[in-house]
Amino acid sequence: MTLALGCIADDYTGASDLANTLTRNGLRTVQTIGVPRDDLALPDVDAVVVSLKSRSIAAADAVAKSRAADQWLRSRGVRHVLFKICSTFDSTDAGNIGPVMDALQADSGDAIVLVTPAFPGTARTVYQGNLFVGAVPLNESPLKDHPLNPMHDANLIRVLGRQSKSPIGLVDLASVAQGAEAIRARLAKLAADGVRAAIIDAVFDRNLEMIGLAALDHRLSVGASGLGLGLARGLVGSGLIAATTGSENAGAPVGGLAACLAGSCSQATLGQIAAAERIMPVLKLDPDKIVAGADEVQRALDWAGEHLAKGPILIASSSTPEQVAAVQARHGRDAAGHAIEQAMATLSEGLVRTGVRRLVVAGGETSGAVVDRLGIPGFLVGPEIAPGVPVLRAVGAGGDGMLLALKSGNFGGPGFFEDALRLMR
Ligand code: ADP
Repeated sequence: MTLALGCIADDYTGASDLANTLTRNGLRTVQTIGVPRDDLALPDVDAVVVSLKSRSIAAADAVAKSRAADQWLRSRGVRHVLFKICSTFDSTDAGNIGPVMDALQADSGDAIVLVTPAFPGTARTVYQGNLFVGAVPLNESPLKDHPLNPMHDANLIRVLGRQSKSPIGLVDLASVAQGAEAIRARLAKLAADGVRAAIIDAVFDRNLEMIGLAALDHRLSVGASGLGLGLARGLVGSGLIAATTGSENAGAPVGGLAACLAGSCSQATLGQIAAAERIMPVLKLDPDKIVAGADEVQRALDWAGEHLAKGPILIASSSTPEQVAAVQARHGRDAAGHAIEQAMATLSEGLVRTGVRRLVVAGGETSGAVVDRLGIPGFLVGPEIAPGVPVLRAVGAGGDGMLLALKSGNFGGPGFFEDALRLMR
């Protein structure tokens, strides 16, 4: 099997978003958690997205991790690697986009790298090298107050120029609108002038399709899920890979018991739990008892043992904002959050031991704790339950073959748990 596309994502949720975008655009895609072991057995897929947590760590660490991911992908025959960044270009003058780009470019041997965070589907567009979030430039958007990467400059040629050792140029919308050949010509001209990376304007998906086609001539590109869309459509459109619905295998039934865990306290999740109470047994955990010790987890596992054989169940730590504030005041925000995440992870382990093969988890951090504890190395992306939330099939040793749905708090409609279980047979 030859992989048509390799991706290195600088955070987990961005990786999931990209893997979902590639799947929806016809590529059979696996998302791995971290750089996989050399012996990871992959199903037959077109693309692999390696999820790193490298957005806000020291630049040297981000470079080392990204190079390791790149080497793993190249060793699997990947020609083109997309370094996946946030569509709001989250970074500081110290990096990490520029340093990682420079290192991967040196390894790739490419003379020039295409860079665009544009993702029109989520209202991120780039014009004259300036990034817009909806109707406003990046530096007037809420990103100006981001706690880790406050973005004070919308001009990406300047932003990337402060991070990279390379001279940065622009492929403007006028060239992009003329199609892939015009983009290639402009890139060749910039490269001949000594420019080593180019911000590329894109306002519509059709711009990204042309950019994707041009990018496939190179070994490296840098962008958000929008560029992933362009690359996927480029690969399918040029016949380099056969389009699939991307998800048939991933969604095949696995049988076994089904359970849901909710650690998100978002309004959407609270509503989804209320809806689930009408169709399945629901156990509400006592957060104070969780922080106090392990008995609450054992009580939940005993309860699950009584109900699971009869059908799906839901166990939730979630409570209202007032109750959450009270718990945090008693135990500290981080201590309470960590204890509850770990309790959910222990619960997931116990449930899998009991025979659960279909697991729905609500909450971003909660999902991370569960996936880490189950030791799942990666997922094949399946059909979409709600926008941005696909069914996932575990690949590799830990939890091999089980189905999961991992939802960050605000995602999904009121019937999310029922919707998920309907697709996870
Ligand atoms: P979301 O995706 O909605 O942000 P997360 O799982 O990322 O959900 O975050 C929810 C956080 O709240 C986790 O750290 C979780 O352990 C914590 N938590 C869950 N239930 C409670 C509760 N009843 N009181 C306080 N914190 C809670």
